[in-house]
Amino acid sequence: MSIANVSRFVRPPDLGAAVAAVRAGAIPVSGGTDVMLHPPAQAADMVDLTVLPLAGIESYRGGVRIGATTTLTAMLGDPRVAAIAGGVVATMLVEVGSPLLRNRATIGGHLARGRLSDVIPVLLALDATITWNDGSAHTQSLAGFYREGRHRTPLIITSITIPEPPARSGSAFRKFSRTAFELAILNCACRLDLDDRAAIAAARVVVGETPAVAASMNDVEVHLAGRPLTPEVIVTAAQMAAAAVPARSDERATAEYRRVLTEVLVRRCLTEIAERLA
Ligand SMILES: Cc1cc2nc3c(=O)[nH]c(=O)nc-3n(C[C@H](O)[C@H](O)[C@H](O)COP(=O)(O)OP(=O)(O)OC[C@H]3O[C@@H](n4cnc5c(N)ncnc54)[C@H](O)[C@@H]3O)c2cc1C
Repeated sequence: MSIANVSRFVRPPDLGAAVAAVRAGAIPVSGGTDVMLHPPAQAADMVDLTVLPLAGIESYRGGVRIGATTTLTAMLGDPRVAAIAGGVVATMLVEVGSPLLRNRATIGGHLARGRLSDVIPVLLALDATITWNDGSAHTQSLAGFYREGRHRTPLIITSITIPEPPARSGSAFRKFSRTAFELAILNCACRLDLDDRAAIAAARVVVGETPAVAASMNDVEVHLAGRPLTPEVIVTAAQMAAAAVPARSDERATAEYRRVLTEVLVRRCLTEIAERLA
């Protein structure tokens, strides 16, 4: 792999030195799969984050904590990741690029990149939190991190934590792309928690490949809350999502086509969850 426009490739002795370099304008590099495709316009220092002890997966407060330089392949091979939320993270990861891409790509680099992602909708649906350092350590919901545009500020992501959903919960992910190795034209991640009367206690419906990092369908989530998980409720939710999604047109698909896909993928995700929880 080679990256253009590097003035110095810095191997920092510790996280503090890495953060200081990034705050001084250096570009953090993890797997380099995105930096390589989008090198800086002018020569810049780069900081190799893979020399820091930021890789690894551990059980954490009933969920899983994943270090930022953990590769997507390492995540895919980990039994704790495979077990979380009925396996939806693993289901999604096998659809991210190719095995070669996943061998290099890291979770921290992916989240810092913050666009065109299969990973982010699933992590948002699971209420993941993110930890980063910009001179001091911070932990925040992933949704808040993107809402506040923090991924565009000088910082180093150090880990992501995925909580285990409640007992009566189901999650699903669907991706629609032209070929198996391509970015999605549209994707969708949903999670439903049921209460002890089998009504929906909490819902997450997230659509990816929109102009935003990923669009949380808040009105659909409010509509679902408190209702039974029936085919009629699912159909209405899917139609609401199609009407509300901030779809865009680009060289891969029109906004109208993406709206149709939204209805189909939301319906399929919610139906899959209903079948699993029946
Ligand atoms: C051929 C190809 C196919 C792909 N297919 C898919 C797909 O199907 N689905 C999908 O979701 N994605 C896909 N991607 C995107 C891929 O998942 C990302 O490029 C990858 O995850 C980025 O991780 P990285 O470690 O290589 O990041 P890097 O390239 O190292 O960095 C990416 C960005 O994050 C910054 N950065 C890196 N690490 C950190 C950190 N810890 N803290 C703060 N900033 C950091 C870098 O400065 C850079 O701006 C594809 C990419 C390619 C090249």
